Parts: sequence; structure tokens; C-alpha cells
Amino acid sequence: MRKSLLAVGVMLAPSVVLANTDYKIDLTQPEHHKGEVSITFPASEAKFLDIKMPAWRTGYYRILNLANGVRDFGVRSNGEELRWEKVDKSTWRIYLPEHSGEVTVDYEIYANQLGRRSRHIDDTHAYLDASAVFMYADTWRDEPISVSLDVPDNWKSYSGMERQGNHQFTAQNWDVFVDSPIETGINTHYAFTQDERDYEVVFWGEGNYDAEKTVSDLKKLVGTGDSIWSDYPFERYVFMIHATTGAGGATEHKNSTVIQRPRYSFASRDDYLSFMSTASHEFVHTWNVKAYRPSGLVPYDYQKENYTDLLWIAEGSTSYFQNHLLLHAGIMEPSEYFERVAKSIDRHKAKPGRDVMSVAEASFEAWIDQHGDRAHNDSVNIYSEGALVSWMLDSELLETTEGEVSYRDVHNELYQRFDADREGFTAADVLTILKELTGRSWQNWWQNNVETTADIPFETMLERVGLELVYEKDDEPEVWAGWNANDTSGGMELTRVSKGSPAWEAGFTPGDVIVAFDGHKVVDGRFSEAFKEYEAGESISVTFFRRDQLHEKTLTVKDKPATDAGIEPVDEPSAEQQARFLQWLQIPHPNA
Ligand SMILES: [Zn+2]
Repeated sequence: MRKSLLAVGVMLAPSVVLANTDYKIDLTQPEHHKGEVSITFPASEAKFLDIKMPAWRTGYYRILNLANGVRDFGVRSNGEELRWEKVDKSTWRIYLPEHSGEVTVDYEIYANQLGRRSRHIDDTHAYLDASAVFMYADTWRDEPISVSLDVPDNWKSYSGMERQGNHQFTAQNWDVFVDSPIETGINTHYAFTQDERDYEVVFWGEGNYDAEKTVSDLKKLVGTGDSIWSDYPFERYVFMIHATTGAGGATEHKNSTVIQRPRYSFASRDDYLSFMSTASHEFVHTWNVKAYRPSGLVPYDYQKENYTDLLWIAEGSTSYFQNHLLLHAGIMEPSEYFERVAKSIDRHKAKPGRDVMSVAEASFEAWIDQHGDRAHNDSVNIYSEGALVSWMLDSELLETTEGEVSYRDVHNELYQRFDADREGFTAADVLTILKELTGRSWQNWWQNNVETTADIPFETMLERVGLELVYEKDDEPEVWAGWNANDTSGGMELTRVSKGSPAWEAGFTPGDVIVAFDGHKVVDGRFSEAFKEYEAGESISVTFFRRDQLHEKTLTVKDKPATDAGIEPVDEPSAEQQARFLQWLQIPHPNA
């Protein structure tokens, strides 16, 4: 059973929290991206105390070696300096004299990694994810902490943690601390209440966002959590929004999120929906990952990779649900949702990696999987492919139970049965839930679609809910090479070559710089224009540089595979299709 919120509330009451470890950071000279950290640990009778920086931060499944920001380390107790040594890349071992008192550690942290949402300090703000800024000791990991910030006069500080003062917070343990990042600086703050829960929205940075509209839509969004889960795992939630330059992405935390976007990418309808979709994704994570998560991530081991073959549920199912909440809140129109689903089908069909890697394998390999060309040809993405497999499971559940059971029910069961503070779920647990909900085994389905590459029957899935996949008829079919390229001053530089495409068969590879075709110089995108004059089966002589040496190859182009899919509601959906659509998205079929 889940811990009741009441019990947690009592434990959390500010007056009851007596901090065991005190964290301080001086940010009064932030221009050079540096902060001065001071941590006081309790006295200990042990011979030594190991204190550590995490090697990664939650929500970003890559080793970041966060100890690399530490300089000027020193430690003292009772006014005496203590002996210490580094024993591995992230661990400082402090030798304790007999009857030593409290141990105070000081160091400088360099924080200039805005895009990774781990640590960033500059003259306008600091964003501090504790895992990238503050050290911890395993000995004291479960004990309460307090943190106070010394900041410039005009800065304001926010966090999902309990507030004890303008710039002071407490958390019941290290795990809550690392999952409650701090935004402090020059910012704009909004607060609202929805269903008796408190919400805050903090904007850092100028941009073309409409703060009032954003806050009002976030208010609608947060009211939809109970369309999937029976209750909420928090009483208070904070949205931190960074409108900035050169950074994009977002990270979920226990009762807060940080969302980053280029400052001028909030205003157009597409940009706005993309922002709201991200906000919804992070909000879904408050349950799926923060309240319940795969056993490989429970408890988090901050020192190394935390392997699981279920990241496709953690990320992909979150991506699957994110736009459902927007539809439910009336923020996204059904036609806008269909457009996004159609695009994801296009991307899936154009990705050779879908025949190579399963979502289970992609989950396990996420820590080391590569980006770029390799990812396109030989991998799938836990987000996009995970979302499609989640949809497929949802469609199968609705079909085999005649609309009685949806994938939402599976997630509510995971929420009811597993508390991420104590126990994670395994694939066997998900299969047990599926069997209990539907009365039949899903072992074969899992084997065929999760553990091996899935063959996703989009047409059938759409037909069940009264939708169809349509492709624009092109009167003048274009030919296709199967490469992506950037126009550079030196020519056309290939960035991707799809496995099995004409360019792949001809032997092209990313990095090749194409300078001429059939004896004509490639300038200003002329190749893409001239390309339209060729017909399928024709051969083109292509001249290119590879590592500064000139080469020539023959490219035999083919007809372009069908892309630009669209999804349209059928004119007269049957009663069953209408019912299934409603059970699927919780809104009526557009032609009902
Ligand atoms: Zn996510």
C-alpha cells in the first residue's frame, strides 16, 4: 500500500525537521559561474567518512561525472584541518580523528551547463540540481537536510522543498534534496490553487511567452491528472521555466519540473503546443517515474548506471500520455493531435533502426547508445518508439476487453502497488497486472513487441477508433537518395544516410561533402532543386570530398517512399468505433 499523504505531511511539517546535514552555498559573485559550497556533516565515531558527488543526475540517463565541477576542496573539524584523499573519481575520503566533532567540507563548484539542467550559475540566476552541486555521504543519505543560499539582494529562490525562509529550504533526506532543484535569481513568480493543491510557476529569462495564458493553461493541465490516476502524489508543485538561448529540454522531479526553451519559441501555435506538450510530459512523470518506477532505478544509485529494460515505459509511455492530457484539458485540438501522431508514424517508418532494436534493448542501452546516424540506422528511441508500443498495448487492451480496460488502468495499478521510495516494478509485475486486469496472459505479446522489434499495425489501430491513415497523392513523384545534408560554403555535407537507401547502396557516408553532380557545381541548395528533374532508376554521377580527398560515385535514385502521412476521422464512425475512441482518448470522436 502507498504511504498516505497525511502521514508524509506530518513527517514533513517544517517545525519537525531537524537537519542532520547543513548545506550552504554562496552565490554572491556569480559572474564567473562559480559558487562556494560549505557542508556540515554530523560527528561520527567512524575512522573515515566517504563523501561523494553523483556521477549522473535523475531523469538524464547518461554518466556526467559531476565531480568534475569541484575545486579547492578542504575539510575541518573543531577548527582543525582534516586529512583527506580522493579514492575514486567521485569520492573524497576524510580521515576522522578520535572524538572529532561535526565535519565541515568547503569547495568551489563551477556551474556552466545550462542545457543539461544540472547546474548553471550566472549574473542573473542559478539553477541548482543538488546532484551536480552538493556532496553527500551514504551514512547520512536517509537523514534530513537543510540548505541555505547567500544570493544577490534582488534574487528570489524557489524549490519543491519545504521553505524555511526566503533562501532556505529543508528536505527529509538526500533523495528528496536531489529531486527538488532550486531556481534562484531574477525571475517572475505566479501561484494558483487547483483542486486544493498549490502550484507555482517561475519564469527565468525574457522571451515571447504569454505568462498569463501559460499559467491559465497549466491550471487546466494540472486538473487532468485524475483522468489517469486515482489521486495525486503531491500537495504542492512548481513549474520552473527557463526562456533562454541555446538550450532546450526539460526534466521531471519529485514535485517540480524545469523546462528550457529558446526564448523566442513560445508564441506560434506550434511552438506553444510543443511547450505545453513538454510541460504535460514532465507532469505525467510526477506519477510515472517519480511515484513509481522500474526496479533498476530503486533506490537510485548515483555512482553508476542504473540498468533497466523498462525505460520505454518510463519515457515512452509518458510521451504517449502527454498529449492525451492536453486533449482532455481542451488545450490541444483533436486535429492537432492527429497531426502529431501521423508525424510519429512517418518517423517510425523512415527509421531503419526499428528492425534492429527492441524497446527493451533500447531501454537497457540508453546509457551508452549513440546519437546521429548510428541511432537512426541501428537503434530506436525509448521516447518515440516507446510511445508507439504503449499505444499498441493500449489499442490491444481496449480491443480484447471491449473497452473495459485501457493502458491508463495499468498505470493506475502501478501507482497503487509500487512506491518508488521503497520498491520498483519489474516486467513480470507489469505482466501480472495485465493478466489480473484482463484475465489472460500477455507473455507472448510482450515477447513479440517489447523484447523483439515490434511490427505495429497502425491501420488496424486507427480503424478500431474510426480513423484512417491517408497520404497526399503527388502528381509528380519525387525521386529519393535517402540522405540528409547541410548546405555549407564548401558544398553539401551529408549528416545522415539511411540504411538500404540509394545513397547507402552507392556507398555514401555522413561527413562526405558533395561538390558536384553530373558535372555541375553544387551551390546554394541547387542540388535539391535539380534533383527534381531526375526520374527513378536514373543514375547521377556525384563528386564529393571525403577527408579532403576528391572522389566520385554513381547514385541510382529511386521513387521517394510515401511520407507526409495524415490521420483523418472517418465520416460515419460506427457505434463501436465511437465508443472505442471515447475509451481511448476520453473525448468524443470528431464525427460522433
Ligand atoms: Zn521524460
